Amino acid sequence: MKINFRKTKILGKIADNKSDVDFLKLVFDAGLDIAWLNTAHQGVEDAEHLIGRIKSVSPHVAIMIDTKGPEVRTKNVEEPFAVKRDDIIYISGNLEHRNDGAHVVHVDYPNFHNEVPVGTVVLYDDATIGFVVEAKEGDALKCRIQSNGTIKNKKSINTPGVHIELPSLTEKDKSFIRFCGKHNIEFIIHSFVRSKQDILDIKQITDEFPGYNPQIISKIENREGFDNLSEILDYSDGAMVARGDLGAEVPFEEMPYMQKKMIEMCVKRGKACVVATQVLDSMIKNPRPTRAEVLDVANAVLEGSGAVSMSGETAYGDFPVEATTLMSKIMMYTESKIDDLLHYNFGPEVKNDTYTLAKSIADEAKASGAKAIIAAVSDSSLYYALAAQRPSVVVVAGCKEEIEAKKLMLYYAIRPLYLPEVSVQNLVKNIEIDLLDSDTVVVVSEEGGNVTHKVVAFKDIK
Ligand code: PGA
Ligand code: MN
Repeated sequence: MKINFRKTKILGKIADNKSDVDFLKLVFDAGLDIAWLNTAHQGVEDAEHLIGRIKSVSPHVAIMIDTKGPEVRTKNVEEPFAVKRDDIIYISGNLEHRNDGAHVVHVDYPNFHNEVPVGTVVLYDDATIGFVVEAKEGDALKCRIQSNGTIKNKKSINTPGVHIELPSLTEKDKSFIRFCGKHNIEFIIHSFVRSKQDILDIKQITDEFPGYNPQIISKIENREGFDNLSEILDYSDGAMVARGDLGAEVPFEEMPYMQKKMIEMCVKRGKACVVATQVLDSMIKNPRPTRAEVLDVANAVLEGSGAVSMSGETAYGDFPVEATTLMSKIMMYTESKIDDLLHYNFGPEVKNDTYTLAKSIADEAKASGAKAIIAAVSDSSLYYALAAQRPSVVVVAGCKEEIEAKKLMLYYAIRPLYLPEVSVQNLVKNIEIDLLDSDTVVVVSEEGGNVTHKVVAFKDIK
């Protein structure tokens, strides 16, 4: 395996209708670390095929299955239709509801019209159109349209500030979680996580599979999730700052604070963090991003997020390889300047022996000017603790279980490698790393359960 010196990780949504082997090879080579699979538009068979293709192209890219949770979408809109500002339409969860002479938009949650109060601004398709609820009439909400647009089927519906009584896990989510258990998938990322109970519900299903212990990442997409993030992190392995839905659910001016706060909470607790949505959005259509997007990637790195993701950029955009390549370059350049700039002064607050050891390894790497940390230990918890230190160099991390290696792909600076027999010698034999003989590295090894670390010249372990 060729070792990538980039420390911040790159996720990208991969759609099954844009996933031929040649395409996957190009984006993986450009630096994609984790393939993020949306289950909103695919069944388990589609996912199975897609995963097969991903694995055939790279044994190292990790897979993240996205379960959709309590979301509401438009339903049974047979033909897209145009709406204009100030038009009146009706929204209903009753699929039988009709209204002669007016458009009715059906949604896939039957009780929708009973739970959304008059005065709510219902947001359609990532908040591209607002519907102001003016009255409840029978089984429908009478709404005034705020701006021109087109109404289509299966588009997202947000109701800012309104708690919808949907269960966190749909039947489809449950079948996908069982699919993950059956296929030993390393990451489950659940949408619209609102409380710790949502994660406990997932764990109840993963527990049906003995020995299966995936990383569970919580997508924080509304105020409830943000307010409960501390307890959510007690039970999940990390959080995604899901700015697409968050930007529809909370006022825009609150988002920068929320992003920084979520990252800070994750870093302090040694949890994974991903900044998501519209990161290089204009590259869906354009080979060059807006200047603000470039800053967005760099700022996520400087704020301490261990990972950043792409959505449409990789799922259906015209420039997926260019976007991935550029994201990787921005990250690496910014990482190289962190010490020159860093004003976000926080680190992990976890206190235990593993963290103490990880800190001394990271400190040693920095003080000695080592070019990498090469680690071969049996307990992966040291690798997670090392990622939490935001080390100055990458950690080549040997793992004796394949799924343990894949799970580490999300973590800052960790370049995991699955090896049935974990030793420094074996690691070095199985990697291609851009180092000179005279470069120094920190070697972390284990003997009789005792972990030691020391600085050596690369040529001495080759
Ligand atoms: P989604 O989640 O793209 O799956 O909706 C991310 C977000 O809302 O930002
Ligand atoms: Mn979302």
